[in-house]
Amino acid sequence: MRTAVIYSEEWRRFDYGPEHPLRMERLGLTWSLMEAYGLTTLPRAKVLAPELADAPAITRFHAREYVDILRAVSAGDWVPHAARYGLGPGDNPIFPGLWEAAQFVAGGSLLAARLVADGEVDRAFHFAGGLHHAMPDRASGFCYVNDAVLAILALRQRGLRVAYVDIDAHHGDGVQFAFYGDPNVLTISTHERGDRLFPGTGFVDELGEGAGVGYSVNLPLQPFTDDAVYLPAFESVVPPLLRAFAPDVTVIQLGIDSHRTDPLTHLALTVQGFGSALGRILEMSPRVVALGGGGYDLVNVARAWTAAWAALNGMTLPDALPLTMHHELRARGLKSLTLSDPPAELPADTRRWAEEYAGRQVRSVRERIFPLHGL
Ligand SMILES: [Zn+2]
Repeated sequence: MRTAVIYSEEWRRFDYGPEHPLRMERLGLTWSLMEAYGLTTLPRAKVLAPELADAPAITRFHAREYVDILRAVSAGDWVPHAARYGLGPGDNPIFPGLWEAAQFVAGGSLLAARLVADGEVDRAFHFAGGLHHAMPDRASGFCYVNDAVLAILALRQRGLRVAYVDIDAHHGDGVQFAFYGDPNVLTISTHERGDRLFPGTGFVDELGEGAGVGYSVNLPLQPFTDDAVYLPAFESVVPPLLRAFAPDVTVIQLGIDSHRTDPLTHLALTVQGFGSALGRILEMSPRVVALGGGGYDLVNVARAWTAAWAALNGMTLPDALPLTMHHELRARGLKSLTLSDPPAELPADTRRWAEEYAGRQVRSVRERIFPLHGL
């Protein structure tokens, strides 16, 4: 198996601001942990820097006018009504170089898609990508440019059938929106229920439209859903649909804000639960473009994406974290110096509520969507 990871130190030049939960240093921390495990010099894995995506590549999804606004605010120009494009204080701050940062993110995911489409590698990983909330004419949820949509469009342009599986704690709304009427792109998102968490969408009855009915799949989950509830629900929905759809390429959004210590969400997964879900997706996917996503407890981001890169290379890592990383990870709040998380029990009532809710959603997906795929 041939693989590629897309990474560069360019992220150091960009900063959402001191109060913002999306910390760019999570990318460097992830890279350091990969290095410490010896995963950045694997013989059959390329390490490539992203190229800047140009405006024409980005306007394949985004409105020309919105791209012009991104360039203007990034250069420091005053733009009246920037808030109409989702830009300004709050989730999507204006910072110097914002446009270039967006170009790097888009460029990295387009590079990953090209390597896989050309058959240069079987699996590519761009963990700075996965910014799944950006809309054609609007920044949303820390995302300015939707690199996942751009990667899928590039794969579609090559005639490939694409499945998109999004395990971020938030609904992958921008990607669902882009392909809502397209039966050649199957989108599946598992996430915390939209009436409890941003962006407020991702219910089972969002099925797709026109020829795309049945090709948008959502599995919303109750707060405090843990591995024991998540993994059986995932298993009931994702593998059967992937098997039926038989994609040429699976694009995976690997947000790890579903983790039990994430400060922005309320799901309760562990790194090993995240790894089990990824493992199942990999088993069902001939070729893979893997992207990052959310993740606001930095030690989880580094552990989960390091484990993901190992899995993409068919490797399992020793659970004890490399000694050279102990000091930094401990300083960032990690208590158990292992790749996996120690077990934790939910209160019985909480577990039952999560289980009942997940059970209803799974039944609903199986009743409404499975028949449309001959299942
Ligand atoms: Zn998220």
